[in-house]
Amino acid sequence: MAKQMVIGNWKLHGSIGQLKSVLGEVAQAKLDANVGVCVPTPYIMLAKQILQHTHVQCGAQDVSQYHIGPYTGEVSSGMLADVGCEMVIVGHSERRRLFGETTEQAGVKLRSVLDAGLFGVYCVGESAEERRQGNAEKVVATQLEVLRGLPIGLFAVAYEPSWAVGSGVVASGAQISPMHVLIKEHLDERVKVLYGGSVKSGNAAEILAVDHVDGVLVGGAALSAFEFVEICKAAR
Ligand code: PEP
Repeated sequence: MAKQMVIGNWKLHGSIGQLKSVLGEVAQAKLDANVGVCVPTPYIMLAKQILQHTHVQCGAQDVSQYHIGPYTGEVSSGMLADVGCEMVIVGHSERRRLFGETTEQAGVKLRSVLDAGLFGVYCVGESAEERRQGNAEKVVATQLEVLRGLPIGLFAVAYEPSWAVGSGVVASGAQISPMHVLIKEHLDERVKVLYGGSVKSGNAAEILAVDHVDGVLVGGAALSAFEFVEICKAAR
């Protein structure tokens, strides 16, 4: 089996100094392939430079659904590819919840990411209320609809229940595993399915040992070189 993936999401955190410090340490750790760091867009070229002699890939956290034109403030997949970006997170729960991004928009974004030759990390997941009402599976299945027909292998799906993101609450193996099976059944058993939601060095090995988990998407803990490297070491 290919090594599990570990992808860090820096969200709206960081500075030139913090990147040099954290990614400088990550660069020293001699990590295997299948590790990525998605930093704020202005820092992608710096991250590439710091990580240039490593296997660690650099990514973005969002992208425009448009290719080119009068869309002030937007950044296209082609531009990201141009600066050496290798992967893009699409449809993160914070984009959906705080910025009103729809599943349809996320689907268009993912297509633009793949068209630009970048790897996509498409996030799905239910809210606490949706899970309480017994709708978690239905919500995730609906979010997967826009992936139909896309080439498997060029993107991963991250199952990130929004109640577990940044909350310190981790989904249990009994919640994670069946959802990963559902995602694979809807798409293809070969699609990589990552779990995200309060992953830290202390729980990474347990989460990565859950059946059908092909890796993790890490938010807060990716800002600490020690935490991030420990999580990467737990990948099998
Ligand atoms: C995320 O940002 O995708 C995430 C899972 O955050 P955290 O690890 O902080 O819960």
